[in-house]
Amino acid sequence: MIPKEARAEARELRELIRYHNRLYYSEDRTEISDSEYDALMRRLMELENRWPGLITEDSPTHRVGAEPLEYFQSIEWDPPMLSLDNVFSEERFREWEERAVRELGLECPPDYSVEPKLDGLAVALVYRDGVLERAGTRGDGAEGEDVTPNIRTVRSIPLVLEGAVPGVLVVRGEVIFRRDDFREMNRRREAGGLEPFVNPRNAASGSLRQLDSRITSERPLSFVAYGTAEWPPDVSDMHSLFGLLGSLGLPVNPWNRTCTGCEQVCAAYRRLEDAREELPWDIDGVVVKMERADLQERMGTISRSPRWAVAWKFRAEEAVTRLLGIDLQVGRTGKLTPVARLEPVFVGGVTVSSATLHNADELERKDARPGDMVVVRRAGDVIPEVVRSLGNPGGDRSEPFRFPGSCPVCGGPVVREESEAAHRCMNPACPARLSESLFHWGSRDALDIEGLGSKLADQLVDSGLVKGFPDLYRLTEVELAKLPRMGAKSAENLVRQLKQSTGADLRRFLTGLGIPGIGRTAAGSLAERFEDLGSLMEAGVDSLTSVEGVGPVLAGSLHRFFHDPVTRDVVEGLVEAGFDPKGSGPSRNGSLSGLTLVFTGSISIPRDRARQLAEDAGAKVTGSVSPATDLVVAGPGGGSKLDRARELGIRVIGEEEFLSMV
Ligand SMILES: [Zn+2]
Repeated sequence: MIPKEARAEARELRELIRYHNRLYYSEDRTEISDSEYDALMRRLMELENRWPGLITEDSPTHRVGAEPLEYFQSIEWDPPMLSLDNVFSEERFREWEERAVRELGLECPPDYSVEPKLDGLAVALVYRDGVLERAGTRGDGAEGEDVTPNIRTVRSIPLVLEGAVPGVLVVRGEVIFRRDDFREMNRRREAGGLEPFVNPRNAASGSLRQLDSRITSERPLSFVAYGTAEWPPDVSDMHSLFGLLGSLGLPVNPWNRTCTGCEQVCAAYRRLEDAREELPWDIDGVVVKMERADLQERMGTISRSPRWAVAWKFRAEEAVTRLLGIDLQVGRTGKLTPVARLEPVFVGGVTVSSATLHNADELERKDARPGDMVVVRRAGDVIPEVVRSLGNPGGDRSEPFRFPGSCPVCGGPVVREESEAAHRCMNPACPARLSESLFHWGSRDALDIEGLGSKLADQLVDSGLVKGFPDLYRLTEVELAKLPRMGAKSAENLVRQLKQSTGADLRRFLTGLGIPGIGRTAAGSLAERFEDLGSLMEAGVDSLTSVEGVGPVLAGSLHRFFHDPVTRDVVEGLVEAGFDPKGSGPSRNGSLSGLTLVFTGSISIPRDRARQLAEDAGAKVTGSVSPATDLVVAGPGGGSKLDRARELGIRVIGEEEFLSMV
């Protein structure tokens, strides 16, 4: 029996959350902080966990959680989702407009709806009796992919429309990334060592077409509605259609305008082109539609395009120039990015003299070589990129660019991990990546130096106090206490923690070095196999390859790491600072020896601590339940993993029992 108060509170929370979602996504403003919003969401989840009967199909908490799909179902569009004809100049637009006026036999200039043309992925949302039922991509117009679970994770899309909407309403619009969301997402990806997305459009398309909606849910996508498949009753022009969509809780573009006649449309086009850089999303032109429903119907469609609308694209943002050379930039994580040095060229409103070539794969695909003529694109505030090479008309071409074997900044060894596009500098003490390396060195899985956060790491490097790892171990309390926001007490603690860290075992030591491909798992296997650092450093490629989880490529790069003078020097410096890391020996025959274990739900000790306990007891910890799972440790709110475990008849235990076993 669910208490009446809980029911009322859940209803109120849902309304509040929807209200704030709408404010944020439709009106671009907020009344509460992120943490207040999270608190509302958390409280609702608590109630729903406690009384699952409270969960409704449309609950804002229920946007995520579907299991990955095997493939996309198809979804049919009738009437089909048409694509617009493009015009690329004012002259062509005027021709289109004149023809329309002539054909319709109008005596005075008609009204047009002028809308920013968002550069994203077109989708349609099917609402039945006001509830989101299905959603899909445009596909070929007649048939798209059913991406309903992914669409449900887009927070600006209401799962339930506001007000009564009987029957079926098919809403069309664009799924996009706002620029600020896109930048923030890329910043986080890079901080996590992931490849950043190239541009918002590709990222939006890639994010929405994920078979696992949990991935989509982590991407901050937005939605903007631009129409409906059929005219709703009592709506006779675009302006009132947008009014209706907005009142139903669907985001519409605040820049949409009704214009009378050709001159007003041209003025609106120029205004948007001028404002383009300041808009919150990328646009590549304007869409001009007949404002009135009856005129749209009279003009009709031909083949795949409506005749009552046209996409008027902005001036090309591409230009051709000569590629003078290719430089390499080393990023904070050690990633080497090839950058094109260009003969300066005016494109997209600014002079561009360098452009990114992204990575080795892209460079090879485009086959851009120094001396070639190349096409450069600059769209929105995305960094300029080289789109393709035109070769060197009338001249000989130079050799294709080769990535060097050593880092242009520090001379350390460069590797390209298996299945990775990026080349990375392996030297943790490389000046380009030193502050990230120090932060990683202090992280919990590595040397676990609590005081060594990312801010302090930056300060240590910027102040020149630390130029390499051994410098960390020469720091004095007096030196540290001079840094901004560092008290005597913290300085004392840090020096003590650093000193303690020199007693770390081989696993932590290896994890801390941040060698590409060596995370805590591989480091653990190496620490089991090798007695101490010395024997690991002298090991041949064959004996490294015999370690579980270390393939020939990884073995090769490890071997290189320990033999290249630059990186070997870093390790030897640490040994001089007092490190003498020992291996753990073959894993003990613990109480959970040989078992594969999965955690789910919330448990009272930190998850990584629980994981450590399980591993120390000999278990292998994995993230998802499969027939290979032996044991599931479940806390409250276990969800789909728990269901799956029960389905497969896998033994499920609680936290207390788990703790008694380790
Ligand atoms: Zn380097």
